[in-house]
Amino acid sequence: MRVGALAIVIAVAMITISNYAYGMEYDEQSIITPWDIQEDTISVLIMRDAAVQPYKIDIVEEVIKSNNGGQTKTQFTSWNNAIKNTNTKFSSQIPTLQIGHINNQNYITIYLKDEINSKYDGFTELTYKDGKIQNAFVSIYDSDEITPTQLKMLIRHELGHALGLGHIIEKPSIMNSIIYQQAKLITMFEMQLFLTVY
Ligand SMILES: [Zn+2]
Repeated sequence: MRVGALAIVIAVAMITISNYAYGMEYDEQSIITPWDIQEDTISVLIMRDAAVQPYKIDIVEEVIKSNNGGQTKTQFTSWNNAIKNTNTKFSSQIPTLQIGHINNQNYITIYLKDEINSKYDGFTELTYKDGKIQNAFVSIYDSDEITPTQLKMLIRHELGHALGLGHIIEKPSIMNSIIYQQAKLITMFEMQLFLTVY
């Protein structure tokens, strides 16, 4: 499904490094999977196709690290802001995201593609070792046509997968498999799931 006015359809696939089993449904997996890292940060590499406007990279960075606007103590526009607030409040050790500086084997790649996928607007592939995440590859389709608002919602959702979250079906969340406008910020509901593994 293409990006629509009302909803964005998202999917995640999992790659198991031992058997390369593609196409498993994320909903069948546990709701949170930890990363296999010793460091307290996960590096993020952002790429775009030539047809995708450079300012869209800035939007992705905003969703990773912005400290401005939209957040209260329980709602956050960026993942790093949500993670840092949660770590401070609960003395947890959820890894933060660091743009660039790939200095180890564990990192997230975000690729803004101009290609259109007939089924998905965003897609995250995860690589595992011993049940923990080693790498994540996020594809955003039709990135040259997507609006800034849609891109923000997509990146928030897909980075949720990249950080280890599955889909949430019980209540409105950025991790619903179809993203609706009423749940477009990261909340303590998602952050509390990380507390079970970090
Ligand atoms: Zn998803």
